[in-house]
Amino acid sequence: MINISRLLKVKETALDVEKYRNKGADEVPKHLVRYANIKAPMVIWNITRKCNFSCNMCHLGSALEADSDELTTQEAIEFIDQMASMSVPLISVYGGEPLTRDDFFTLAGHAHNRGLRIILSTNAALITNKTAREIAESGISYAGIDLDGFSQLGGGMDVIAGLEKALPAIERLRDAKVGYGVRITIGSFNLPQMPSIIKAVENAGLKRFAICQHIDGRDWKAVKEERRAIMDFLIDYAMKSPEMEVVTENFYADGIYLLQRVAKSEPERAAEMERLLAMQGGCPAGDRILNVDYRGNAHLCPYWQSRTIGNIREQKLSDIWSDEENEILAMMRDKTHYLKGMCGRCRRKRLCMGCGVRAEEVCGDPSEEDPGCYVHDSRAAKREMTTI
Ligand code: SF4
Ligand code: SF4
Repeated sequence: MINISRLLKVKETALDVEKYRNKGADEVPKHLVRYANIKAPMVIWNITRKCNFSCNMCHLGSALEADSDELTTQEAIEFIDQMASMSVPLISVYGGEPLTRDDFFTLAGHAHNRGLRIILSTNAALITNKTAREIAESGISYAGIDLDGFSQLGGGMDVIAGLEKALPAIERLRDAKVGYGVRITIGSFNLPQMPSIIKAVENAGLKRFAICQHIDGRDWKAVKEERRAIMDFLIDYAMKSPEMEVVTENFYADGIYLLQRVAKSEPERAAEMERLLAMQGGCPAGDRILNVDYRGNAHLCPYWQSRTIGNIREQKLSDIWSDEENEILAMMRDKTHYLKGMCGRCRRKRLCMGCGVRAEEVCGDPSEEDPGCYVHDSRAAKREMTTI
């Protein structure tokens, strides 16, 4: 995740980060968790595959029915206890749709009682007044509303119509005093509508949105051109809209692109941003985050389902995480030494690290260069990246 607005506004300085960097999980303010030097990972937990929508671009392997082998309530509670003993700094709960699990609030309440911080990713369709109150009571501080489900009703993808359908749920969360924001998928099908989509977000009174680019099965050249267009729009927008928090997902090269743009006009601000990006440390897969799916399989990140590094039914989470024999974990924790190709030569690699999932998909090797890098794509930029 790259938080364009916080970086641009220098909401936190490298000094602030330094102050909390080595504190315990419960002492680090929520907005600084991504910088914290905590031994345990943030856990992204796909708690069920069951979803009340069937989005054709879903990357989470969701289905209309739960898998017969999903973690039982008892297993899920034991897993939460393991996360509590490790002092996991944050649990981000995904699905499917997490709220389809009958025991969702039992589990969320248990995690809260064990002192764990939880945020929820939801399509919002099941958020009634009662559910919004239960979300608040179970200690969930933030709900990220993925607009894909509502946007795809009736065929096609209409984010503005989807946002309108999500508004009642957003108001219920607001009334229950749960923080919220929306996640929007942008692709070739709706890129020209970005200005009107963001206008609709503003009109809905939202203060935070995250952008996810639809890239599945597409030509990388087109993906990169589209990414530059998305980033140029978002950076310009974030510069003139200080009240909105603009976040991007899945491309840590976004931080480098932002840095390059700011460096041209404000070198001092860019220097501070560079310090913050270095402290954030680029791709967190297997180093600061871990994904656990509904069957208990552990993966390096939610997009890396092709690699399983253990199962919490068979091993303790702490043993999976601290397995020194695991080669891929060792590599992800020392990735700057392993990176090859363009990423290996990149002078900003410490701030980004490329993407192991994309590299493995395209080249069969997670330490190869990120095929999605749109920052160093021209010959001049490639020269610049190795010579300065
Ligand atoms: S070359 Fe690799 S490390 Fe450098 S910005 Fe691009 S993706 Fe990131
Ligand atoms: S491996 Fe790729 S998708 Fe996973 S966290 Fe890193 S950059 Fe993101």
